[in-house]
Amino acid sequence: MIMKPEWNEVRCLRCVACVGSCPTGALSLSGWRIKLNEDKCIGCGLCARICPVDALGGGENGG
Ligand code: SF4
Ligand code: SF4
Repeated sequence: MIMKPEWNEVRCLRCVACVGSCPTGALSLSGWRIKLNEDKCIGCGLCARICPVDALGGGENGG
């Protein structure tokens, strides 16, 4: 199932682990915000799994 991440700016620590985890380079840190390039995202969910504070949804908290 395709699951595009939804970034939670309050939870996010700006650790950029998600940016490094993305196999297609769809995530970037821009102006202290995590930016998603929707055209590049394949919905693999890796970023949501690697995020230490579940700031990209898709986790047990359901966003
Ligand atoms: S779901 Fe996958 S492709 Fe999309 S931003 Fe996250 S890691 Fe990248
Ligand atoms: S992995 Fe999570 S906490 Fe770290 S920058 Fe990405 S969204 Fe923010």
